[in-house]
Amino acid sequence: MPHKNIMTKIGIRFDDITPTMNWNNFYKIQKVMDELSIKPLLGVVPDNRDDNLKVDTENKEFWNWIRKSQENGYCIAMHGYQHLYKTKRAGIFPVNHFSEFAGENAVLQNRKILAGKKIFDKYGVNANVFMAPGHSFDKTTIRILSQQGFQYISDGYGKHVYTRKDSPIKFIPIMSGEECLGEGYELTTAVFHLNTCDRNMLRNCEMFLRKNQKNIVPYSDFFRYESGLQSVGERMEELLLANRLRRKMQKRRIARRFGRN
Ligand SMILES: [Zn+2]
Repeated sequence: MPHKNIMTKIGIRFDDITPTMNWNNFYKIQKVMDELSIKPLLGVVPDNRDDNLKVDTENKEFWNWIRKSQENGYCIAMHGYQHLYKTKRAGIFPVNHFSEFAGENAVLQNRKILAGKKIFDKYGVNANVFMAPGHSFDKTTIRILSQQGFQYISDGYGKHVYTRKDSPIKFIPIMSGEECLGEGYELTTAVFHLNTCDRNMLRNCEMFLRKNQKNIVPYSDFFRYESGLQSVGERMEELLLANRLRRKMQKRRIARRFGRN
């Protein structure tokens, strides 16, 4: 088993980074990342309006902290605009049937993406990566992101960085399970949601970072990888993965509702 893990490069991604996120959890993991020199991707919501992401009191130094993180080698992704789900569409990577973008018309999508960018510009934050809340985006989103200068979407399934037909945007795939650390996988991204982590889940996150330290690379390393066009077979696997993730998340939501989380 372990010898198969040697080649796959792992990027680390944290979702739902906002001024009111779970700072206790983040600082605990950040300590570990400092110790192991890990440089992750932070998915920052430019103008969070989602009450589910209001866990802690507001950090007034948030944007300074983001800028410092950036100077420290962290990558910043724009994680939607307000993190509000406006449609019941799943989009291209159908993990969730709710979206801030998928199914909205081009004018609206463009307005949201521009507004998010404007906030980032105002605070001196550079982002060439986009990650959609709920993983849901559609062809219109991809086209607009590309027009607005984004180069990458952190999402989807693949063993390499890939492009889709008719789009110059590159996809940096995410992982759903240990098999993504296996043979043939050039790279993958481990995704963590620290807002909802209890002590056990935090410990699992820390253990993952320690166990895979040798394979973890700064997320920005992925920008140097060549991309290939996604094949039909890979697209099929992507849809299977979306299905698996959807079930995993549903289970987690049910567990949370019954207080087992
Ligand atoms: Zn999110």
